[in-house]
Amino acid sequence: MSFISQKVKIIPPYIFSEINRKKTEMKDKGIDVIDLGIGDPDLSTPQPIIDKLIDEMQDQRNFKYSNYSGCLEFREAVSSHYQKQYGVVLDPETEVLTLIGSKEGIANLVPTLVDPGNYVLVPNPSYGVYRMAAQLAGSHAYSMPINKENNFKPELNTLPDYIKKQAQLMFLNYPSNPTSAIVGLEFFNEAVQFAKENKIPIAHDFAYNKITFKEPAPSILEADGAKDTAIEFGSLSKSYNMTGWRIGYAVGNKEIIRALSTIKSNTDTSQFLPIQKAAAYALNMDQTIVNKNVEIYCNRMNTFVEGLNSLGFDVIPPDGSFFVWFPVLKNYTSESFTNEVLEQCGVVLTPGSAFGSSGEGYVRASLTHSVERLEEVIDRFRRIL
Ligand SMILES: *Cc1c(COP(=O)(O)O)cnc(C)c1O
Repeated sequence: MSFISQKVKIIPPYIFSEINRKKTEMKDKGIDVIDLGIGDPDLSTPQPIIDKLIDEMQDQRNFKYSNYSGCLEFREAVSSHYQKQYGVVLDPETEVLTLIGSKEGIANLVPTLVDPGNYVLVPNPSYGVYRMAAQLAGSHAYSMPINKENNFKPELNTLPDYIKKQAQLMFLNYPSNPTSAIVGLEFFNEAVQFAKENKIPIAHDFAYNKITFKEPAPSILEADGAKDTAIEFGSLSKSYNMTGWRIGYAVGNKEIIRALSTIKSNTDTSQFLPIQKAAAYALNMDQTIVNKNVEIYCNRMNTFVEGLNSLGFDVIPPDGSFFVWFPVLKNYTSESFTNEVLEQCGVVLTPGSAFGSSGEGYVRASLTHSVERLEEVIDRFRRIL
């Protein structure tokens, strides 16, 4: 007998659990394992944000329920950030919604927009939550392959008619996890045009908005008429090293924001007010520390990419995010390469296939370790090659 619903029963085992088991086993044996598998920044939350949280914690009024859509102070800070950074005007009351981390909003968006049996367009490879949220909502994920050949942009004009008719949502994500690609505004203009023609709303996941190495990454809301059809997810997690705080936001199309808020108001009551207020402070404060952190990632990225290239890997230099996405060596699959590297070098990578079938043949490395540790990884690779 089982108490578990069909929906949950068909969830595949968490892809990282097997890797984690092996990693723990090696650590227990005293092996110095370097984990480039995790997507959690090693850098710390800037102290002024922590100080602000502590301040807000002294105020009893902050221990009440938040407004369902989030406190106005945070939503105003998001709106002002969009105005300053992207020249996009947002009404904090109707076009901004507080999220308990953007993952929460992404997962709740699918049942907000997609009816069971219909389709969600999902980049392949991509962040696993899009695909899983589609499955949990009883809808189908339809893969849009992104690869080096198409510059990591889905080929919208090749989508079949029946999919265009039955799709009720498209996810995009730039800077991209896992491919580290960014796109220019012209792609967002094209995507918004496509969305309008086919009546398919777009959700752009902008979790790595500030982590870019060459040009800044555009917001989809900068595209012409984007608010008619698109929303964007943002997060404090990666830019401010606040993953455990659980604070993010959705912005854009009013109707979608309102509907997402309706679903959320029946399942949660927004985030703890001191966290929202400290996050508002983070968005408003001097951003020098954020830029310094991006420099740290950039140095790590240069070291690691140069190292890999010197070993004969064919690495595409990342545009943004803190991931390096590169093809495995000949005669390996994503998984066999990941296993070999873990067993022979004590280095954890994420197999590209974990992000979708089009990730096969690639692996992802997180730049969440110091330059010295990344050099050590390259040395270990050199020894087995
Ligand atoms: C980390 C990550 C998120 C989730 O961020 P939270 O705001 O912490 O929930 C969303 N999308 C992508 C692509 C991510 O890598």
